[in-house]
Amino acid sequence: MSTAATEIKGWYEGRPAIVFWACRACDTRGYLPRHFCPRCGATALDKKESLGAGVVYTLSLMWRTPVAALRPFVPYAIVLVDLVEGIRVLAHGDPDLRIGDRVTATYRPFGDRVLPHFVRARTAGEKDRNEENITLDGL
Ligand SMILES: [Zn+2]
Repeated sequence: MSTAATEIKGWYEGRPAIVFWACRACDTRGYLPRHFCPRCGATALDKKESLGAGVVYTLSLMWRTPVAALRPFVPYAIVLVDLVEGIRVLAHGDPDLRIGDRVTATYRPFGDRVLPHFVRARTAGEKDRNEENITLDGL
């Protein structure tokens, strides 16, 4: 790995980002940390930051939590998302997501951690909540 590439940090290291690796020799990509490429065996793997955009491959709704401290977060979805970079990631998501939805990664507190949480991507013409409050008064 190059020196610069190893400095990229992801959500599991406290930074709001999804990081993946890409093999320099064959461009195979993956999400789970590896020391060598499972396709060609090369050890030159670069860490890269995802744009956080993708499509829901599948999901499961969670209505119960293993510990009482997480009950305020239900319901939420456990989603498998195919990112535009060609990797599939497991994360949380809004409970109203459906298979095939275009989604964007956000990062939200969940218990004592901040985890990736996918929300439906806005379509052209939609406004987010912040934009709805903008007025043109005084212009
Ligand atoms: Zn490779």
